[in-house]
Amino acid sequence: RPLGYAIVGLGNYGLGRIIPEFANCRHSRLAAVVSGDRAKAEKVAAEHNLPAGSIYNYRDFDRIRDNPAVDIVYVCLPNAMHAEYTIRAAQAGKHVLCEKPMAVSVAECEAMIAACRKADRKLMIGYRCHFEPYNLEAMRLAKSGAAGKIRYIRSEHGFTASDPTMWRLKRALSGGGSLMDMGVYSLQAARYMTGEEPVAVTARESTDRRDPRFTDVEDMIDWTLEFPSGAIGSCQSSYSANHNHILLMGDKGRIELEPATGYAGQRMWVGNGREREVTPPPGPAKTQFAGQLDHLAQCVATGRTPIVSGEEGLRDMRIIEAIYRSARENRTIRLDGRA
Ligand code: NAD
Repeated sequence: RPLGYAIVGLGNYGLGRIIPEFANCRHSRLAAVVSGDRAKAEKVAAEHNLPAGSIYNYRDFDRIRDNPAVDIVYVCLPNAMHAEYTIRAAQAGKHVLCEKPMAVSVAECEAMIAACRKADRKLMIGYRCHFEPYNLEAMRLAKSGAAGKIRYIRSEHGFTASDPTMWRLKRALSGGGSLMDMGVYSLQAARYMTGEEPVAVTARESTDRRDPRFTDVEDMIDWTLEFPSGAIGSCQSSYSANHNHILLMGDKGRIELEPATGYAGQRMWVGNGREREVTPPPGPAKTQFAGQLDHLAQCVATGRTPIVSGEEGLRDMRIIEAIYRSARENRTIRLDGRA
């Protein structure tokens, strides 16, 4: 049977983006919803023919333990709530798909991994680009040497934050600014396109603190990653510019994606300039979202480890903490333990 998901948080992503995707899944289905808004939850439950008893709120969430129709809990809440709901889900005996960023600190990520390990449950992070055909083909091409020896990767991600009251701009809920949100895509791209782990990071922040949107979190942050091969990663995130771009340069050419990591509409060029546009082969599922949902369902069914595990989220969070530290202390931070 398809495995049952409980969606926690009926916001733009959980309700607007993920729930409709069950229609594209082969191994997953919607089994429950968790929301602070009873009327909204009832409407969603009715639209999806969920049986009575499939609605939870944040207080009675732990009762989900008694619902055998729920195999996996998908945490689509503000970042600072990811750790709590992942840990409560694992303790209720459920596998977990948790949105990016995995949490707001390395310590939280470690606690989430430990809780899932203790409960013998799987933990996956919502890194949907690993199920998206353009990004998958770009990774394959980079690895196959299509651009030659990789010399540098650039990646910029951001959008203009228009609503100053949004939780993304409140540190207590977001854990940080653009780096915690869109910066994760730039950082992920640098790692999955080079296939390497950075050994050092140097970062610089630029935020207009008089701007009412940015009293609590950063706007723009720019960071350089050094990789063991000598390749350089030049990454950026921002809340005051719309950009969504990956460019990998090797000694024989480039692989470029723009938009690179959106919900749809990706374009990719391979060669020496933008003259050769490439259409990738189909991905693992109808959409990247369905691919991600079905991947975890199949991992649960077959006992495999998700390709984007909690450990993968933790690796990013270690680098994110180093990026913030580098910007704060105005110096290069080593990630390989060397002085
Ligand atoms: P959103 O604001 O639209 O939804 C958040 C939901 O959490 C809302 O339903 C809100 O009611 C609920 N919530 C519960 N307690 C809350 C509290 N104390 N404060 C604020 N909201 C509270 O946000 P979103 O865009 O759906 O983002 C949710 C998560 O999904 C974030 O971690 C975000 O990074 C992630 N996300 C991922 C992608 C992706 O492409 N992978 C895209 C968008 C969002």
